[in-house]
Amino acid sequence: MALLTPEQALERILDVVKPLAAEKVPIDEALGRALSDDVVANRTLPPHDNSAMDGFAVRSADVHQGAVTLSVIGTLFAGDKPTLKVAAGQAVRIMTGAPMPEGADAVVMQEKVTVTNNGVTLTGPVTPRLNVRNHGEDASAGQILLKASTALGVPEAAQLWAQGLTHVSVSRRPQVALVSSGDELCGITDAPHGRIVDTNSPALAAAVRRAGGVPTLLGIAADTLPSVTALVAKGLDHDVLLTSAGVSVGEKDFARDAFAALGVEASFWKVGIKPGKPLAFGTRGNTLVFGLPGNPASSLVSFELFVRPALRRLMGRTDLEPQRMPARSASPYVKPAGIRHFVRVRGVWRDGELWAEPLTSQTSGAWASTQGATHLMVVRENVTQVIVGDKVELIAASWVA
Ligand code: AMP
Ligand code: MG
Repeated sequence: MALLTPEQALERILDVVKPLAAEKVPIDEALGRALSDDVVANRTLPPHDNSAMDGFAVRSADVHQGAVTLSVIGTLFAGDKPTLKVAAGQAVRIMTGAPMPEGADAVVMQEKVTVTNNGVTLTGPVTPRLNVRNHGEDASAGQILLKASTALGVPEAAQLWAQGLTHVSVSRRPQVALVSSGDELCGITDAPHGRIVDTNSPALAAAVRRAGGVPTLLGIAADTLPSVTALVAKGLDHDVLLTSAGVSVGEKDFARDAFAALGVEASFWKVGIKPGKPLAFGTRGNTLVFGLPGNPASSLVSFELFVRPALRRLMGRTDLEPQRMPARSASPYVKPAGIRHFVRVRGVWRDGELWAEPLTSQTSGAWASTQGATHLMVVRENVTQVIVGDKVELIAASWVA
C-alpha cells in the first residue's frame, strides 16, 4: 500500500475529531479556543459620533476650496457631554474621542490649521465625516458581534470586554495524556547511569499547553508489552493520548501491539514524510490515540503537523493548520524522490524577501537539529533537489521561543 500523504493522514485524523463540550469561562481563559455560540452585542459602540483626531470640529459645508476662518466657540474633551452646538462660521476645538458637537460633521486635524486671534483658519475642501468615528461603527446592539466558532485572539477578547462581558462559552480544553517508552530512558532528576532523559514527554507536554490543551505525564514504560500496555491503558480515559517511541518495526516496538490489545481502532501507522514516518493513529471511543515516533525532532514535527490541528478542532477552531508562506531557500537541499521532507529552517528576512536557512544538522535524533528553527521548509515528494534561490513553501513552527 502506498504511504499516506500528510494531507491524507490529516484528513483521516480530522474526520473523527469533534469539538468538545462547551464550558463558560473567564474571557482571558478562553483565548485560543473558539466560541460555542454566536455572541450578540448588547451595546452600540462607539456610543456616539466622536473625533478620531485632535483638531477642530467644523461644518464641512463651511469649508470650500481655499482658506476660511471660523470662530472657535469652545473645547470638547474625551468624556465631555456634547453640550456645544456649532452654527455656520463656527468651530469647536476637539480632542480624540470627544463627542461630536451638534451641527459639526467633520474634524480637521490641528496640524492642518492656523490658530489666530479671531479663530482658526483652515483650507478646504473638507469632506463630510472626515475624521469622525461613527456611532455604531464598532458594534451594533442586537447584531451578531462574533459568530460561533470564531477563535478568540486578543482583539476578539477586547470586543467581548467592551460589551461588559466577563465570561464566554467555549469548547473545554482537551485533556492530553503523555506516555514515553524505552529502556534507555530516565526521569529528568534521576541519576542517568548511561541512560538518557525522557525529553519527549515534557517537550510534547509543553507543546500541548501552548496549543491550549491540558497535559498529564503518565511516565515511562519499559520496552515490554505489559509495561507499555499498562501505561497506555491509563491514558485512554483522556481526550487524547500521545505515546512516543516504539511505534516502528524494531524488535521491542510495542506501541501498536499495546493499542491493539486495548481495543484501539487503528487508522494508519505510517505517513510518507521525513522526519516522522512512523506515526500511528487510531481511536478508542472518543479518545484520539497517536503513537508518535521516538526521535525527538520527529515527535515534535509530527505533533505540529497532525496533533496540533486535532487539538484545535477539539477546541472548536476551524483554522486548524499552521500558517504557510513563500520563501527562497538559502542553501541547496537534495533528497530522493518519494516522500515529503519537512526541513527545519531558520526564516530570515533579507533584501525584502523571506529566506529559509536550513539548520546544519537535520538528524531527527537530536534536539540540536531543531533548536533555533522557526519554520519547516516543505520539499515535496517528486522534488529531488532544491537550489539556492528556489522558491519554497514554509510552515510556521509553533515551538519557537
Ligand atoms: P524508538 O522509536 O523507540 O526506536 O526510538 C527512537 C529514538 O528516539 C531512540 O534513539 C530513542 O532513544 C529516542 N527516544 C525515544 N523516546 C524518547 C524520549 N522520550 N525522549 C528522548 N528520546 C527518546
Ligand atoms: Mg525504543
